[in-house]
Amino acid sequence: TTGEALLTVSGLEGWYGESHVLHGIDFEVRRGEVVTLLGRNGAGKTTTIKAIMGLLGKRKGSVKLEGTETIGLQARHIARLGIAICPEERGIFSSLSVEENLHLPPKLSEGGLTVERIYDLFPNLKERRRSQGTKLSGGEQQMLAIARILRTGSRFLLLDEPTEGLAPVIVQQIGRTIQALKDEGFTIILVEQNFRFAASVADRHYVVEQGRVVDMIPNADLDANIDKLHAYLGV
Ligand code: ATP
Repeated sequence: TTGEALLTVSGLEGWYGESHVLHGIDFEVRRGEVVTLLGRNGAGKTTTIKAIMGLLGKRKGSVKLEGTETIGLQARHIARLGIAICPEERGIFSSLSVEENLHLPPKLSEGGLTVERIYDLFPNLKERRRSQGTKLSGGEQQMLAIARILRTGSRFLLLDEPTEGLAPVIVQQIGRTIQALKDEGFTIILVEQNFRFAASVADRHYVVEQGRVVDMIPNADLDANIDKLHAYLGV
């Protein structure tokens, strides 16, 4: 892979209260790449992307975005550097319609996608524009959650298990959406347990184990490393 590093994480440690969870995470992401964080439950994948966003109580080490050190910056300042997270819990407003969710906040950020542009990317959201959040399927909720962060204008997206609990046909749709975003030049970190899905969309995979990155596997080498990967994931 070529290109400059957009994100460089080195020696990242993180805590929940007294509980030391990240013990030195090292990896980098180049502009335009789709990179996954793979690993077992509790390995520290979600915590890693929260720590990158500054959403963890305490972190140390180094997290550079386009060369700017973000350790010590507050979450809202980090978000302004053009990075956005789509959390596992999705964060959509269930009492509001699809369109109302898309208009929150009402003001479109610089570089953010207009609702029309979002409907081009997510035709099923257009069909469901008047539907209330609670009436949406899991897949539609996930699409809406991703769509909402595109309003922020961020070109670097951190997606936490977007395929979790979704039917295979919906997983494929989400794969196509991620591919479309990649084609538009977005950079994406994907936290995943579904490694077939990961293989279908990513350029490279980082394996997280007990709060550390223990391996990096280019997607092209995945087949040759399948036994190793199964051992990492315990499948
Ligand atoms: P999962 O798929 O289960 O989310 P993960 O690799 O994303 O796996 P994390 O959620 O990052 O793992 O969790 C890493 C460790 O931190 C686990 O031991 C977990 O129990 C612990 N942990 C996660 N969230 C909290 C929290 N809010 N408070 C305390 N400990 C937490």
